[in-house]
Amino acid sequence: MIDPYGRPITSLRITLTQRCNLNCFYCHREGESGAERNEMTPEELGRIGRIAAELGIKRIKLTGGEPLVRADIVDIVRVLALYVEEVSLTTNGTLLESLAEPLKETGLARVNVSLDTLDSGKYMSITNNSIHGVQNVMRGIKRAAEAGLNPVKINTVLLRGINDEELDAMIDFTAEAGAILQLIEFETTKEGEGTEEYRKYHADLRPVEKRLERMAEEVRYNELHRRKKYLFHRNGRPAEVEIVRPMHNSEFCANCKRIRLTSEGLLRGCLLTTYGSTDLLTPMRSGADDDEIKEIFGKVVAMRRPYWMPVPESKKEESAAEVLK
Ligand code: SAM
Repeated sequence: MIDPYGRPITSLRITLTQRCNLNCFYCHREGESGAERNEMTPEELGRIGRIAAELGIKRIKLTGGEPLVRADIVDIVRVLALYVEEVSLTTNGTLLESLAEPLKETGLARVNVSLDTLDSGKYMSITNNSIHGVQNVMRGIKRAAEAGLNPVKINTVLLRGINDEELDAMIDFTAEAGAILQLIEFETTKEGEGTEEYRKYHADLRPVEKRLERMAEEVRYNELHRRKKYLFHRNGRPAEVEIVRPMHNSEFCANCKRIRLTSEGLLRGCLLTTYGSTDLLTPMRSGADDDEIKEIFGKVVAMRRPYWMPVPESKKEESAAEVLK
């Protein structure tokens, strides 16, 4: 599958549930809003995975909500791993310590674990929860690396005034855990940019990149993701840091090879817009055959367009001023 902008579609991100045991204040909920519970079964997900693989999907990323709150998560991974080269998941890590090994054994290749701070008070307030502590997540990360779910990536959303002073401590922990640190820009839609919350907490990652450039022992270029990686040693152990900067980044969109399936079975071309979103689950439950399902994939891919388009030369100055505001 190739979209009208020449982007090959090789990756599918599936939201397994909207349920989550945390409630992070900045969360985009993968573009979903409600608390609908029309979740897909492992059998349905397996069929979608098989059809997607026949259409050229090589990688499936499971997300949520929190994918590990699904009691059947191991069955889901098992059935999807039959069809694609790589099944990975992104998790808040609260339930990872006991699940890392069973997931690895059933075919999970790797994990991203979201962790925005190492400070337990901040963790409780970012995640709006009083049950799951940060130590638990840190243990989950270490267990995942020991179980071989490598590379374990720590997803840290940079939040101005909250965790922007923790870079050094996060690099230390990344080295200790044998993980990779991904610093992620707080992301929102064009409409969301005007909200008070976004303006308050959004941090520009470009100065952070400059700082990493100065601090790192080595800077390499990651061809696959078309981004730099910064290499360190801490206490004799290696650590890697990457920056994910999607906002107003047409390069980010130009490299996007991913379509999405919502927890209710809507196929979508982009996180930030519902344009082209098409129901896959209802036709499937009404007896659609594989060719009909493939047509839905084709339709969604045909309607894909980059959310952040390159800025025309004439608008560049204006737009740069806007970004720096
Ligand atoms: N519960 C799982 C987790 O914590 O990884 C999966 C769902 S969560 C929505 C997936 C990832 O999106 C997490 O790494 C989270 O930090 C990131 N995320 C959520 N809202 C975001 C935002 N507004 N900007 C950037 N990243 C965001």
